[in-house]
Amino acid sequence: MRTKFPTIRRNEKRKTQPSQNITNNKKDDLSMGNSEYDIIVVGAGCAGPAAAKKAAELGLKVLLLEKSQKPGEKNVSGTCLNMAALVDPDLQYLMKGPIEREITEMHTYMITPERTTMMRETPSEGLILLSVRRDEYDAWHTEEAKKAGAEVKLSTTVMDIIEENGTITGVVTDSGEKYFGKVIIDAAGVNSIIGRKAGLIPKRKGDKMILYTILNVWLGEEVVNERFGNSIYYFLGPNTQHKTWPWIFPKKDVVTIGTGGYMDDDLFKGDIKSVNDYMQNLIDLPIIKEKLEGGKVEAWGLHLEFDEEVEKRTKDRLILTGEAGGFVIPFLGEGMPEALFTGIYAAEAAAKAIEANDFSAEFLEEHFMSRINENVFMQSFRYIADLNKKSIMSMPDQEIAAMMQNVVIGGGFISNAIHTSWMKGAEEDDMGLVQDAKDFYDLIQPYRQVGSESVEIYKKMRAEK
Ligand SMILES: Cc1cc2nc3c(=O)[nH]c(=O)nc-3n(C[C@H](O)[C@H](O)[C@H](O)COP(=O)(O)OP(=O)(O)OC[C@H]3O[C@@H](n4cnc5c(N)ncnc54)[C@H](O)[C@@H]3O)c2cc1C
Repeated sequence: MRTKFPTIRRNEKRKTQPSQNITNNKKDDLSMGNSEYDIIVVGAGCAGPAAAKKAAELGLKVLLLEKSQKPGEKNVSGTCLNMAALVDPDLQYLMKGPIEREITEMHTYMITPERTTMMRETPSEGLILLSVRRDEYDAWHTEEAKKAGAEVKLSTTVMDIIEENGTITGVVTDSGEKYFGKVIIDAAGVNSIIGRKAGLIPKRKGDKMILYTILNVWLGEEVVNERFGNSIYYFLGPNTQHKTWPWIFPKKDVVTIGTGGYMDDDLFKGDIKSVNDYMQNLIDLPIIKEKLEGGKVEAWGLHLEFDEEVEKRTKDRLILTGEAGGFVIPFLGEGMPEALFTGIYAAEAAAKAIEANDFSAEFLEEHFMSRINENVFMQSFRYIADLNKKSIMSMPDQEIAAMMQNVVIGGGFISNAIHTSWMKGAEEDDMGLVQDAKDFYDLIQPYRQVGSESVEIYKKMRAEK
């Protein structure tokens, strides 16, 4: 089936500006009990604080619940924020957060028993990614939501939903507290229980899940500067991954190393008995051993990621955001922008529902999805992921390394997606495929120009910090 791209221009004036008189709901607030809110947001990772901040800015009474003592404290995942997303006016404020390292380069190593090939990509200008530590970043973001007016309760785990006549009206926490909301925003990530209890998140199959193992290695700032600089690193070596792309992302004084695989029947085979064996093979590669010499393991973690959007992200009075809603592209190592965008869009949709006094799944879905469908970043990354995932899943691991080599030589996933469709169309005399490639090329044009613009915006935001 052919992909239909929406016709969007970046910076296009929004059709769905939140109404100003939403603040009139303050009147209702006076009659609200202590445990009653306009919006309850569950989870203070990426999507949650973004949703809570936006909702509070729109004048709503918001409660943000997070199970950790400090937001992000348990999250040692990759965590590079994509600048192509951050230049969106909705996300620019995130450049003011605690940034560990400004990433301007990418190195990819292809390692076979015979030779090691290294490719270095350096855009002529601009930042590619911002490297962050989640234990610092999520905590900062939660503070921002608080400053905007959201009430935040940490060390509070949501255990259950409250339903009245089949509609979700609130949540129950581990201490037995009950909180009621006009709209519940589920931002509890991959292990969300709300989406499950509400029947929106199905049981997942192995090839829809990736199990990652992650190490944080402390080396000290000087050593990280010297050995890693401002680059991220990808490594394609034998028995180091299963249909994924092992990486090292440098932070200020630590580096994060990640690998793993799709949980299909071939995840464990031969000498590979657990994903930690992939990690061991990775860090035993001489090139990595050298880079990590003298380092101390600061944290180790296993992370599960679902690689599948859920069919429906709304129910009456409920919206699923971020990973809870399947808005993540694990194969491209990407999910934070999707979570941040969907958090904000969920808050806007909820505000509209409150204004219209219509809390139906249809109303929420329409206002939530319309913003997602007009987001060029989300649409184009989804397209690239779908296209590449199909070929990845059908290849053995050795061939994936070769394919990645072509992707890197060919100018990255975006160029590769255009090139593949274009060439296939030419070969098969199918002008439809060529047109697809052309449509996609046109769609992403604004993002090909973010280089110098992104630096200007970044400098401005850092100065305002
Ligand atoms: C190994 C790895 C590397 C990655 N690297 C990158 C990368 O470099 N760039 C990128 O863009 N994306 C990356 N991702 C994806 C990214 O981390 C996620 O997509 C993103 O964090 C999703 O945000 P979220 O807000 O939906 O969920 P999360 O960030 O997981 O936040 C969920 C929050 O909800 C809380 N919570 C959960 N259950 C409850 C409950 N019952 N009650 C209260 N609170 C609860 C959790 O404690 C957590 O704070 C990576 C993922 C992995 C696994």
